[in-house]
Amino acid sequence: MNNLVTLVCLIVATSNLQAQFLVETDNFHKPISIYEAASITNVGSEILSLQQFLEKKATYTFEPIAGPNTNLGFTKDNYWLKFSLTNNSNRDLSLFFETGRPITDIIELYQIDASGTIVSQITGDLLPFDSKPLAHRKMIFPIELKADSSYEFYVQYQSDGEVINLPLNLHSANSMILTSYKDQLAFGIFYGILVLAGAIYLFFYFGIKEKSFLLYFIYVSSIALLHLSLDGYFFQYLTPSAGWLSRNAVLLAAAFSALAFGRYVQVFMKVKNFSPLLEKVYNSLHICILALIGAILFIHSAIEFYYPLVNLLGVLLLFLIIGTLVTSLRRGAAPDLFFGIGLFFFFSGFFIFILNNFSLIPNSFITENASKFGTGLEIIFLSLSMANRIRILKSEKEQMQEIALQRSQESNEIKSFFLSNISHELRTPLNAVIGLSKSIQETTQDPKVKSDLEIIQYSSLELLSAINDILDYSNIEKKELKLEERPVKVEKIIQELRTITANKAKDKNLNFIYEEINQLPAYILGDKARIRQILLNILNNAIKFTQKGDVKLSIQSDLSPRNTVDLTITITDTGVGIEQEKLDRIYESFIQEQIDDKRKFGGFGLGLCIVKALIELYQGTINITSTKGKGTKVVMQLNFKLPEKKAAQATSSISGTYDLQGKHILIVEDNPVNQVVMKAILRKWQNTTFDIANNGIEALEKLQAAHVDLILMDLQMPEMDGYEATVAIRNGEAGSKNQQIPIIAVTADATDKAKEKVKAVGMDDYMTKPVDKDELYSKVQQCLYLQEVDVSNIL
Ligand code: ADP
Repeated sequence: MNNLVTLVCLIVATSNLQAQFLVETDNFHKPISIYEAASITNVGSEILSLQQFLEKKATYTFEPIAGPNTNLGFTKDNYWLKFSLTNNSNRDLSLFFETGRPITDIIELYQIDASGTIVSQITGDLLPFDSKPLAHRKMIFPIELKADSSYEFYVQYQSDGEVINLPLNLHSANSMILTSYKDQLAFGIFYGILVLAGAIYLFFYFGIKEKSFLLYFIYVSSIALLHLSLDGYFFQYLTPSAGWLSRNAVLLAAAFSALAFGRYVQVFMKVKNFSPLLEKVYNSLHICILALIGAILFIHSAIEFYYPLVNLLGVLLLFLIIGTLVTSLRRGAAPDLFFGIGLFFFFSGFFIFILNNFSLIPNSFITENASKFGTGLEIIFLSLSMANRIRILKSEKEQMQEIALQRSQESNEIKSFFLSNISHELRTPLNAVIGLSKSIQETTQDPKVKSDLEIIQYSSLELLSAINDILDYSNIEKKELKLEERPVKVEKIIQELRTITANKAKDKNLNFIYEEINQLPAYILGDKARIRQILLNILNNAIKFTQKGDVKLSIQSDLSPRNTVDLTITITDTGVGIEQEKLDRIYESFIQEQIDDKRKFGGFGLGLCIVKALIELYQGTINITSTKGKGTKVVMQLNFKLPEKKAAQATSSISGTYDLQGKHILIVEDNPVNQVVMKAILRKWQNTTFDIANNGIEALEKLQAAHVDLILMDLQMPEMDGYEATVAIRNGEAGSKNQQIPIIAVTADATDKAKEKVKAVGMDDYMTKPVDKDELYSKVQQCLYLQEVDVSNIL
């Protein structure tokens, strides 16, 4: 600083009005502008040698320079600047002279001493970077001033249409280094912000695929490119050998950044949604910019017009963006504060930059770099606005998820309702078919009728099992599949399955083998229907996919000390087998080993999915091994608790002849066909009487009129349904003597919801139609028996 203060910057007017700039030292820390000592003249399109210029010099009028960073505007003309320097000290001085912008096309400097010796230097971005007198991004000439000597300087500027700026700075080595450091710090921060913002939003774009993020990244990148070109880095590092790209980099980067900014604002502000007119204006402006880019690329002769044109389009875009902001606010859009502040900084930076260019405000580091500060702050605030956008997108997504969840819950409810309805509607007629055909079968003597009825029974059961599969599948999906735990006579199930499978095997000329390793326990605690379902599914598959050979069922039972039994059930066949790679997906729903299977063998493709879910509920395992063309082996391991002796006795007493020893049952059922089926079943029970009520109200009346031991209650009935009737009975509306009467729901609704509701209203048990007469008797027996003997531990 001291050096600077002691530095004598004296301008002496000489006789020919040539201002003299006196220099006494080369040890100062801030650059010194010599603009007051310089003057300039426009020589038009002529490119002159020094000789030619000096000859014509007297004919030119030299103008003083307005300020330290004068802007000559967009120009294609050539200018000559002159000034004199006098080394007023007694030692040689090494200084540097900085002039022009880093992207000036050509600058030639001529230094003439008192003896007339001329030293010339040339620089510019039309020449290779290596040929610069000083390898610096700026236009800098090293100059030597001998002790006590004066020099005249002439500088020629050439431009193809871009702006010529006239910083006229003398640097010492110190001031050069310090200025470069300062520049590096500011540029480091500026470019750092651009790189960070660009990279972050590019990553966000890959993460959330929102288009405005990509456009923002392109905008930030093109702005970075524009500044890199303006600052001379593009030339220095990317196109050091000069040439077409170096010459047009600024123009292209400016046009691209205008295009990217316009597109970004258009998409980010969703202009289309609130103003189709503005949307059209944006599109037209973008077409103009694209046309300009095309012209830059292909029509070089008009380059002088491109510089003002790209600036004009840029200014139009700025007005358009302001118009968009105002319109969106007037149409009621929520103000985006960060976006607004970002644009404000951009405009302010630009404004100060232009004021500085026209020398309307004092030149300083801040004003000189105003557009950089403005852009940097703009990018920071636009980034904040983008972060806001992420938050909004997130909350929009959450809202959408919530709506989707609600919809899926609604559709699940509709699905449940539909399934329960379908199951009801299909089960009611099936109930009649199965019940009546069984009843006729037992009474008829005609073998032909008997065998036809067998087919009816068989087909109805298949249909029933298909309906059950669909219901089960829906319950697995909802995770609502539940298991009962009651004493089950395993022997009986196995016997039944053996008969069914043996018959099917006989029909296909297959050999069915049954093997029992160790004696099966008499009873296990489990869900009879589910155990039957697991085994039947696997056995059916074995028969279905085997054309010749054997199907074998082997059961090994191992009692464990903790009153449980391990059952290892192995079902092998010699059928078509399953390809190894398809085994992995075999438990997925609707998978059929081959599409062809569907045509050849039929089936929903749900069986194994349900079997697996059931086995998992029992915490058991299933393992399928298979060789294509050779056969399949399914091994299941299940562990069951064994019932207490008392419970087993309770259950055992229900087997044998069907005799209720004088009990009176009330059947509450509205459907006449179902009434017939129930009557047909109950008539066969010894010492059992019954009455029928058509709905809940009739049931209440009948209960009051006569003694009833047990109620078989349908659920869906007109006037008063089964649930309402049960609630009324439990509330004592049919007399206090009937408040605890055993009630068994007999319904076509096989959903878990129905089961839960049945329990909730206070019914004792539940069974589905089509009514299985053994199951009905067992449940009736249990309900009546449980009133007398405490076997609560089995429920
Ligand atoms: P479905 O039998 O109703 O088609 P499953 O879930 O029971 O559905 O079986 C799925 C598929 O697994 C069958 O379609 C068949 O391709 C294959 N599969 C199952 N068991 C066997 C078997 N024992 N032999 C050959 N393929 C089988």
